[in-house]
Amino acid sequence: MLAERLADALGADAVKTAPEDLAVYAFDAYSESRLPAAVVLPTSARDVAAIVRLARACGEPIVARGAGTGLCGGAIPAAGGVVVSFARMNRLLELDPRNRRARVQPGLINLDLSKKVAGAGLFYAPDPSSQKACTIGGNIGTNAGGPHCLTYGTTVNHVLALELVDDTGEVYTTSLDDAGYDLTGALVGSEGTLGIVTSAWVRLLRLPEATRVWVATFGDVEAASEAVSAIVGHGIVPTALEMMDGLMIRTVEAAFHSGFPVDAEALLLIENAGFEDDMDDCERAIEKICKANGGLTWRTARSQAERDGLWAARKGAFGAAGRIAPNTYLQDVVVPRTKLPKMLKLVDEAAAAHDLTIGNVFHAGDGNLHPLIMYDKRDKRQVAAVVDAGDQILSAAVDLGGTISGEHGIGFEKRDTLARIFDDADIDTMLRLRDVFDTGRRFNPDKIFPRGASCAELRP
Ligand SMILES: Cc1cc2nc3c(=O)[nH]c(=O)nc-3n(C[C@H](O)[C@H](O)[C@H](O)COP(=O)(O)OP(=O)(O)OC[C@H]3O[C@@H](n4cnc5c(N)ncnc54)[C@H](O)[C@@H]3O)c2cc1C
Repeated sequence: MLAERLADALGADAVKTAPEDLAVYAFDAYSESRLPAAVVLPTSARDVAAIVRLARACGEPIVARGAGTGLCGGAIPAAGGVVVSFARMNRLLELDPRNRRARVQPGLINLDLSKKVAGAGLFYAPDPSSQKACTIGGNIGTNAGGPHCLTYGTTVNHVLALELVDDTGEVYTTSLDDAGYDLTGALVGSEGTLGIVTSAWVRLLRLPEATRVWVATFGDVEAASEAVSAIVGHGIVPTALEMMDGLMIRTVEAAFHSGFPVDAEALLLIENAGFEDDMDDCERAIEKICKANGGLTWRTARSQAERDGLWAARKGAFGAAGRIAPNTYLQDVVVPRTKLPKMLKLVDEAAAAHDLTIGNVFHAGDGNLHPLIMYDKRDKRQVAAVVDAGDQILSAAVDLGGTISGEHGIGFEKRDTLARIFDDADIDTMLRLRDVFDTGRRFNPDKIFPRGASCAELRP
């Protein structure tokens, strides 16, 4: 039996099979769950290689898991099998401040990395709102973004090389040098379907000399959206440009008391980081654009504590929604920035058509919306309405020239909608790439690709 063989190889303490242990690993932040056959907690790449070889010998699927904060069911064991949890591989292995890079284990928590390198004047830029909990391995799996990715780019722009275990149990390292195919780029965002990452070289950035954070309020989300387009249209790319609608302002304020005006119907949280000498000009320019686009109030955070408080409120917004409803479903779509006003109207229409409450708090600068649908999963009507409304929003984004995921990934949730943006030939090409890395399709099956997609059938 696989669990016994795993315990022989890694020690009994590394393998969990008790129902109460398995239950903890049956779900992530998506709404569905599935029990694994076993959970394994490796402490080295060698352990991971042994797990892969044993699972392969027993014909069991393997699902890598970071913190399980993923919102598309990427870490749920959809086809059962073995969950490999990286909770015990969470160290900073090497810091190379001269070259501004670090080697980390996949289970290292995103925010912990920035804390650990701050003493060297450095930070790790991708900052998902879940950064207090999510791991670098999970971020690599989903190519995670975050508020500051507007300027700095997403995870793929910050991963230099990867050590990974392939489906035969071999350990490989992609090249740190910029030579040959960009295999690192192909692996980032592959949601655990191409291999299991056992360590990563990541790029670090110098902490900025100065940071300013501003809050601008508006009478409606359309005006705030116009301001977003105008700011970027003027050639200004702030480090972060986030939006909240009236419902979310009031919800977040009730939870965090960060001084957001509760009578506003839209708010932009704007940050710029760089040289102190540039800050006043930047502030004047953005404030002027906001006022020209219907801005009602303007606030400059005066201290680090105030800036931290505003960000804590923004990053805690999804948790604060628990005050409105016992369950939430977070959609993740992208539209061209200029289409934000139209898209937000369509989100409102979806809410009205399905008699649901939907809040909006999102990365406006990237055109990456996160309509947050509130519901009670004990109510069957609401559950069906949430599925329909989520789909209506997703279709609206595609119709506006956008796409089905900005940063959360495809996972289990959106596998059948992949075909709305890729045709059979595209999907076949992706499956061929998968087969190069994972010949038995044992890594995270039932994820990303539409049900029934199989390039083997299409091959001559
Ligand atoms: C409140 C909240 C706010 C969020 N905000 C953001 C945001 O701003 N931006 C954003 O991008 N996401 C956000 N997310 C989603 C989520 O936090 C990210 O997708 C994150 O990258 C997942 O990390 P994790 O460690 O929890 O990974 P998990 O959920 O455990 O796994 C995610 C995927 O990565 C794979 N994986 C994990 N470890 C490895 C490994 N070692 N090797 C190979 N594959 C691996 C898994 O198989 C899975 O497919 C948010 C989620 C929540 C709950």
